[in-house]
Amino acid sequence: MFQDDDTAMPPERSSPSVSPWPVLVVDDDEQVHAMTRVLLNDFEFEGRRFSVISAFSAAEARTILAERNDLPVVLLDVVMETQDAGLRLVHHIRRDLGNRHIRIILRTGQPGQAPERDAIIAYDINDYKSKSELTAQKLFTSLIGAVRGWRDLVTIETLNQSLERRVAERTAELERQTTLADEQRRFIENLVEMMPSPVWYKDAAGRYALCNRAFRELFPNAFNGEAATIDGLVVGDGGHDGLEQATAGTDSFSFEISVGGPDGEPRELLVVKRPLTASDGEVTGVIGIATDITERRRMEHELHRLATTDPLSGAHNRRHILDLLDRLLTGQGGGAETRQTVGAACLIMLDIDHFKRINDDLGHAAGDVAIRSTVEEIRNHLRATDQIGRIGGEEFAILLPETSGTDGAVIAERLRKGLAALVIVLSDGRRFQMTGSFGLTEVRPLGDTVESVLGRADQALYRAKALGRNRVEAN
Ligand code: GH3
Ligand code: MG
Ligand code: MG
Repeated sequence: MFQDDDTAMPPERSSPSVSPWPVLVVDDDEQVHAMTRVLLNDFEFEGRRFSVISAFSAAEARTILAERNDLPVVLLDVVMETQDAGLRLVHHIRRDLGNRHIRIILRTGQPGQAPERDAIIAYDINDYKSKSELTAQKLFTSLIGAVRGWRDLVTIETLNQSLERRVAERTAELERQTTLADEQRRFIENLVEMMPSPVWYKDAAGRYALCNRAFRELFPNAFNGEAATIDGLVVGDGGHDGLEQATAGTDSFSFEISVGGPDGEPRELLVVKRPLTASDGEVTGVIGIATDITERRRMEHELHRLATTDPLSGAHNRRHILDLLDRLLTGQGGGAETRQTVGAACLIMLDIDHFKRINDDLGHAAGDVAIRSTVEEIRNHLRATDQIGRIGGEEFAILLPETSGTDGAVIAERLRKGLAALVIVLSDGRRFQMTGSFGLTEVRPLGDTVESVLGRADQALYRAKALGRNRVEAN
């Protein structure tokens, strides 16, 4: 039963794309509606005209208000269906609909119907006019004030809402970040704790401030959780660690050390360290991770031993003793010391005399015992720096570094005598003795090769055999 009079407006007065300010007129007097329309016809505010939305009862107004919350202003009659239908509608708007923005201008026909001051306060009424007062000018002034007030309230609320939304979004984002940071922290903590390698953090004062389970297991007694020094690590660490190294750069550095393990057995550790810097670049400490390479080293040693040792006698194998000779000649492997002494080294070739007979008379096993006993006997006469290798069945090369030809001859003679005097007792009680022939040569600093040295030693050995065995010949 209400009507929107947009269509009544002359098109030339306002651009059709700009909607008019809607004004809800609630009055049971049809004439009031008609007059309001006439009065508003000429009005324009901020390029927008006014359109009247008519409701002829409070009930009808409720229906409209329930559907629209974009109404800036209502011109409201007091007495309609009931004496206080207008005031009750105000209550409905403010309380039930929660509409605090719409400006309410109360209009009464009789001055005696003006609401009490208390009612104006209690009902949140924004203006009061008697109908006779509503000249065009007064109505316009009143409406402009109402529209401005409504717009300010809407603007403030929009700002409030967007502010609240931004606060809510930011709060949610912070919560998400906190959750993520917390998750990352717990992930790292658990990861570090369950790592099989010992991991630690040493602060700027050099204390072990943090560590994981593997670290505590490796140093169960040394670490008490707050400030500790770990003997092996600190001692072995010495020159590598510390902030003087750390401040040199942010790169990690590594080294190998040997520490006493929890069972007292030495452990070989490969340690990798990295300085930890704060966001301002200051070094706050060093993180370290150790890999236990004891077993790897043991296997490497074992592999090396297998690759270089003759399994029967325990002497170096042919390849390794010749390799040692080659290194002595080229000055590798022993540093400057070796190079200086290249001129004073000797090689002795030893071949057991009539070895075939031992095999034939006492059996192959006895021959094996003879080979092992020979190596043992020779070693008893050698210095730690001397080397013996088995280069053939019952033929051996003995390398004597830092030994002149004269000294080499003395040593060879001592070896010959020792071998000849050796009495070998087999497990079944049988005994036998043997002799060896020795070919000695001096290793020359310049011009010698492995082949030339072996060649001369072989010739000397051949001569020893030819001259009756059990003797030393030099070449
Ligand atoms: P010579 O005095 O001229 O050196 O005579 P020999 O018998 O010692 O030399 P020969 O080269 O004739 O014989 C060496 C023997 O050593 C032949 C071979 O069967 C034996 N032999 C080689 N390797 C082994 C081994 O690992 N164990 C045993 N038991 N015998 C071996
Ligand atoms: Mg022989
Ligand atoms: Mg032989």
